[in-house]
Amino acid sequence: MSQRVAIYPGSFDPPTNGHLDIVARSSRLFDRVVIGVGRNLAKKTVFDADERVALMKEACKGWPNVEVESFDGLQVEFAKTSGARFVIRGIRALSDFEFEFEMGNMNRRLAPDIEMVFLMTAPEYLFLSASRVKELVAFGAPVDNFVPANVAKALRAKLGQGGLRTGATESND
Ligand code: ADP
Repeated sequence: MSQRVAIYPGSFDPPTNGHLDIVARSSRLFDRVVIGVGRNLAKKTVFDADERVALMKEACKGWPNVEVESFDGLQVEFAKTSGARFVIRGIRALSDFEFEFEMGNMNRRLAPDIEMVFLMTAPEYLFLSASRVKELVAFGAPVDNFVPANVAKALRAKLGQGGLRTGATESND
């Protein structure tokens, strides 16, 4: 029987416990999950793609069927090159839904054989976003309950002590 392979694409700037919850659940649903860290995002990111890949790899090392790669371009192309027939996305609120619905429909037009899979966030992560986490760190608040330890450390190094003023937190995720 062929393997069920899925990609989980996103910017992951940085990975949060909300993302990792989706990864954990996906790793149980699929034989192989390839996390795709977007390289050429319109968004300005705090961590460059290699840093985001490294942070995600470290955070996901407990799941043997989860890999982390970066990708350029379309989600469906990344799915094809990864040998995946499924694209996972997480949904927090109704506001996520509209964007995801539009993107999902576009993906369907581009690649009808690839199926979008939407996982509803666990309630404890409903209000957790990478942007909020970056804001908290920049203002000196602890984020250890929201991100894995390696990410908290990297965030403090990058954004602590007024790093927010570098202007690198414009993403709207
Ligand atoms: P993108 O810029 O592609 O939206 P993100 O890194 O913001 O990338 O998010 C990647 C995926 O993870 C998206 O599907 C997003 O909805 C989902 N996600 C983000 N935060 C959470 C969370 N707290 N709980 C569940 N899913 C989430």
